[in-house]
Amino acid sequence: MEGPYHALRVAKVVQETADARSFVLDVPEALRPLFAYRAGQFLTFRVTVDGKRLVRCYSLCSAPEVDGDWRVAVKRVAGGRVSSWFNESVREGDRLEVMRPAGRFCLGEREADLVLFGGGSGITPVISLLKTALARTARRVRLVYANRDRDSIIFGAELDELARRYPGRLELQHRLDAVEGFADEAAVRRYALGFAEADFYVCGPGPFMDVVERTLQALGVPGERIFIERFEYARDGTPRDLTAATAPSAAADAPIARIRLDGAEREVALLPGETIVAAARRSGLEPPTSCEEGYCACCMARLRRGSGQMKANDVLTPAQLAEGWVLTCQFVPSGDVEIEYPD
Ligand SMILES: Cc1cc2nc3c(=O)[nH]c(=O)nc-3n(C[C@H](O)[C@H](O)[C@H](O)COP(=O)(O)OP(=O)(O)OC[C@H]3O[C@@H](n4cnc5c(N)ncnc54)[C@H](O)[C@@H]3O)c2cc1C
Repeated sequence: MEGPYHALRVAKVVQETADARSFVLDVPEALRPLFAYRAGQFLTFRVTVDGKRLVRCYSLCSAPEVDGDWRVAVKRVAGGRVSSWFNESVREGDRLEVMRPAGRFCLGEREADLVLFGGGSGITPVISLLKTALARTARRVRLVYANRDRDSIIFGAELDELARRYPGRLELQHRLDAVEGFADEAAVRRYALGFAEADFYVCGPGPFMDVVERTLQALGVPGERIFIERFEYARDGTPRDLTAATAPSAAADAPIARIRLDGAEREVALLPGETIVAAARRSGLEPPTSCEEGYCACCMARLRRGSGQMKANDVLTPAQLAEGWVLTCQFVPSGDVEIEYPD
């Protein structure tokens, strides 16, 4: 049976800034229905770096209504394994393993004004939303785009072109740390001025998103009008799961999860309410994960035996569920189980 990853050819590589590249992917005709996407969604890549298999998400910066291609942009993170690999090693003609688009950082039906806050690589889903909103709606848009300095601005020329093409509708505000410092609450209040009824979209480094979210909440913007895409997890630095050293011992009659990942196999006695990802980590495995909220599908694996429940599932289709796929970050077994991550 077919796994969740599909081999896509890299059709084009563009050096966008000193530390960011964009990659156009060739999606063959037969896969186009599966890879249909909404502006703001992302792709999940499975790559091998230094012999280790790693899974990461990258947002589409193309917009389905405007661009004919599938394009992602990857900014190098200091010490980052996959982002460095993309920036140093991926060439035109290479084939990458990619999962179909997913994500819910998308435009709603409301025709309200939009304020988009993008920081650094967070511009990728934001520019996709922007292009779709401009082409397909009459919404007025303010884009606030924060960067370290002028040279770090990704898609600068494309944004200038959009501002020229939509003079009455798109207001482009660059914010450079080197000139104005990090955005604070006062700045965010200014950026929100005149857009009291807008929908707000936020994507960027953790502290940037936090100050924007906090300020919007203080301004009384209801949660359903604030959309946030987080690129980083474990934001406060606290470990998500118990480790072998910190976990209490499992009960003598605890259910057992047999987990197969990358040729390794572990049997773990489960703690009450524990997910497969948490149990796998506790056993020393490194399961692939990203959002850990049930919508990115990075962590999907096959349930070979047993049963249980997912706390959330915003991505697996009924067909995939019928094939036995589960989101291991959400799946809590109700007895002994056997779980196999895809090869
Ligand atoms: C939904 C979603 C969409 C995303 N879209 C984009 C996008 O469009 N563009 C983009 O550029 N990124 C995007 N990201 C982020 C991306 O998925 C990766 O998280 C990012 O590229 C970093 O991965 P990496 O493998 O390079 O870094 P990692 O190797 O995972 O390292 C991350 C950080 O941890 C540090 N680190 C690594 N190992 C250790 C260690 N042993 N001890 C201490 N510190 C360590 C590194 O120095 C680095 O700062 C997205 C993420 C999500 C969840």
